[in-house]
Amino acid sequence: MILETLQLGPVGTNAYIIGDQASGAGAVIDPGDDARRVLAEVRRLGLRVEAVVATHAHFDHIGAVRPLVEGTGAPFLLHEAELPALEVAAERALVFFGITVPRPPSPDRLLREGDVLTLGGQVFRVVHTPGHSPGHLCLLGDGLAFVGDVVFQGSIGRTDMPGGDYDTLLQSIARHILTLPDETVLYNGHGPATTVGRERRTNPFLVGLAPAPGS
Ligand SMILES: [Zn+2]
Ligand SMILES: [Zn+2]
Repeated sequence: MILETLQLGPVGTNAYIIGDQASGAGAVIDPGDDARRVLAEVRRLGLRVEAVVATHAHFDHIGAVRPLVEGTGAPFLLHEAELPALEVAAERALVFFGITVPRPPSPDRLLREGDVLTLGGQVFRVVHTPGHSPGHLCLLGDGLAFVGDVVFQGSIGRTDMPGGDYDTLLQSIARHILTLPDETVLYNGHGPATTVGRERRTNPFLVGLAPAPGS
């Protein structure tokens, strides 16, 4: 499996290119900026972009979606509850951060909890993990997960932006992250990858938070 991390944009957001060497099937997760660099990397890896997925619609995760989708013809996938945030993403980037991003396109497919996607030749289950943003999703694969701005190494996503809620975020983590095996690698939106076990043991925000299976 091909897995490349690119740090893009003004806040160094992780974009991920995943792919299957044998078939050339590729996908891009959270392309926040610099579509040209993403496309160059995809080409270098010999992949065809078959899907562009955003974990959520904050500008630093969707800034390059429009040029990428236009450049590859790939569909854009987003959780259905993130549509309102997508609609104001470009405006918010400008008002709150003074940053201009290309207006993101409308999603070609709206995702929801339990959807199963094949991305870059691998199967992922979509889970809805609100708290950082209302329609945040995580992609759970075999031994790895793309978790966006839900949990970082030693920290969790901020909840002070519109639609954020701290208790909701902790519930999402308890339900969908802490129920994963310890060795699961978490690829997040900012900073280095980590594992479920490491965060369970050392993340100060998760102390005393018990796994909450059941949905
Ligand atoms: Zn975010
Ligand atoms: Zn972010």
